[in-house]
Amino acid sequence: MTKKTVLITGSTSGIGLATARVFAAKGHNIVFNGLEANGAEIAADVAKEFGIDYLFSPCNVLESKQIDEMVSQAVDKFGTIDILVNNAGIQFVSPVKDFPLEKWNAIIGINLTAPFLLTKAVWPYMEKQKFGRIINIASAHGLVASEYKSAYVSSKHGIIGFTKTIALEGAPFNITCNAVCPGYVHTPIVENQIGDQMKAHGLSREEVIQKVMLAKQAIKSFIPIELIANTVAFLAADEATTITGISVPVEGGWTAQ
Ligand code: NAD
Repeated sequence: MTKKTVLITGSTSGIGLATARVFAAKGHNIVFNGLEANGAEIAADVAKEFGIDYLFSPCNVLESKQIDEMVSQAVDKFGTIDILVNNAGIQFVSPVKDFPLEKWNAIIGINLTAPFLLTKAVWPYMEKQKFGRIINIASAHGLVASEYKSAYVSSKHGIIGFTKTIALEGAPFNITCNAVCPGYVHTPIVENQIGDQMKAHGLSREEVIQKVMLAKQAIKSFIPIELIANTVAFLAADEATTITGISVPVEGGWTAQ
């Protein structure tokens, strides 16, 4: 694959950062994004390590104006965006009767509305050049539910529906759209849940990991982060040109049950 420009939301932490590293290792330009205080440093370090061109944007994906600005900056610098990875995401765990509306709105805003806004923003460039790869990081929770995660499960089921719709609309323009559905990967979003679940259930750290988190994950261990990143890279590669509208579970057998 020739050099492409890849925009990855939430790429200064976790799965997004691992994905950025895989694309950087292939020599692509990366548009980094994320809210980490040291995000600019993280992006600069990856770019230096792999000798790539890059841009860092601290855009808050809840703000449509900031999304448009980030895409404009990227297009000014690189001419286009070829690959969009909608990865930024948040979680909040609570029984529905206590679920705060502001948490619901933030989860739907970041996990579902932002991918819609980003897709809209990059679409004209992808359509014009008749090439685009959009990869949405959904979740095993896009395929099945767990209690106390009503907003997250709704957002991730929603993004799978969005993925299918965009696959249909993109087909005439060689724009593919697919989703990746990770099981539990040990990143900050999961680390934060361990603490919350310890408090909620009165369990130890190891009990939360084994009895709550990995209970449904058949392999009974966290998914190595590189496996998610490599799946994203495969969906963007020439080998996946005719793969569109699907959701790839990388969840250690969770949804086999
Ligand atoms: P993480 O917390 O390590 O990273 C999330 C990233 O999103 C961070 O860079 C953060 O700054 C960014 N972000 C959050 N809110 C943002 C906002 N308003 N604007 C811009 N950036 C924002 O989490 P992760 O585990 O790497 O999660 C990445 C994606 O993978 C999420 O969509 C998550 O739902 C999904 N996922 C994770 C797991 C897992 O087990 N870790 C499992 C399934 C799906």
